Amino acid sequence: MDGLNKSMYDIGTDNAFSIMARSNKLLTEGNDVINLCIGQPDFPTPKNIIEAACKAIRDGHHGYTPSNGMSSIREAVANYFERNNKTPIDPNNVLITPGGKAVIFYTMLMFGQPGVEIIIPNPGFMAYKSMVDYTGATPVNLPHKMENNFSFDADELLSLITDKTRLIVFNSPGNPTGGVVNEKEFEKLVDGLSKYPNIFILSDEIYSRIIFENNNHKSLLSYPQIKDQVIVLDGWSKTYAMTGWRLGYGIFPKKLIQFAEKLATNCHSCVNTATQYAGIEALSGPQDEVEKMIKEFKLRKDFMVEELNKIKNISCVNPGGAFYVFPQILKDNFTSQQISNELLEKKYLATVPGSSFGSEGEGFLRISYASKIKNLKRAIHLIEEFMSE
Ligand code: PLP
Repeated sequence: MDGLNKSMYDIGTDNAFSIMARSNKLLTEGNDVINLCIGQPDFPTPKNIIEAACKAIRDGHHGYTPSNGMSSIREAVANYFERNNKTPIDPNNVLITPGGKAVIFYTMLMFGQPGVEIIIPNPGFMAYKSMVDYTGATPVNLPHKMENNFSFDADELLSLITDKTRLIVFNSPGNPTGGVVNEKEFEKLVDGLSKYPNIFILSDEIYSRIIFENNNHKSLLSYPQIKDQVIVLDGWSKTYAMTGWRLGYGIFPKKLIQFAEKLATNCHSCVNTATQYAGIEALSGPQDEVEKMIKEFKLRKDFMVEELNKIKNISCVNPGGAFYVFPQILKDNFTSQQISNELLEKKYLATVPGSSFGSEGEGFLRISYASKIKNLKRAIHLIEEFMSE
């Protein structure tokens, strides 16, 4: 199209949303569709959080707030972060955003440009590559392999750094794999990265609370050697079942926060005020609903891993966090796109092909187990049928 910025043709999209639209269409046509494609908790937002938002509206909090967020929510984030990571942060370095995704967008706009390299996980959350491509920077893939429990190799990562590298993106626990980076690998990496003070790191920690077994999430920002290089992305969407509220945050190093705030002012002005009040209640109020949700996710995860591994030609790593399993599925030379299509069109089971998350995802499917156990049981049955046909 004439006149359009040509980078509009480079920007990708999130397949989970188009698969969800197709599965909703099949549903409205009367089919019994099981939707395991979208990444959002199936639990309601806790009542105390909803009440805080309603109260804010009733109390007349209807106007703009500062574009970096109200000071009370930025302080709540700082307290929450310190409580979980034993690392104090300055509330002035926090930017409240309409969902965690905005932190990816703003960070990529800050660093991405032709001639620059940005290292991203592969398979990885689609927005990373989309945005790198949009800016004209070159995405450099850091493979996260099944044989490595979908973690990465710190030496491999350090070997990818060149004089063009400006930004490295991490995501642990990871989407689409649920993989958690082991602490030893992080320590090796931190030692290596501290030699590159001009390279920044976007640490996407949106699943930081949804973590199982003996894994304890440790934020990359809690390593003092690299603290001036790290941007943390986190938010309320996954932990507090608030995906549709659109509330997230970034913690930016002192030298970057002013630029992040300028992007925020020009783009979203500020996050919905009542939502910010809800966000304060979420971080500062009781956490028992979160604990219950994580316990339930763990039961479902154990069920899915065990049942998938019983099926011939499927192998599934036991993920350390998030609410996805990422099984490898071998079926008649089908691509993961074909498997996902067939499951949706013939069995009415919505999943996301692994290849949507990068070349290393080929051969895998992302299955979200943020759904009732009875749906998961039926999904396993449908996959079994599909595999034996
Ligand atoms: N980062 C990762 C890895 C995600 O999976 C998601 C959502 O799916 C986000 C960021 C964005 O979350 P939000 O809904 O808060 O924008």
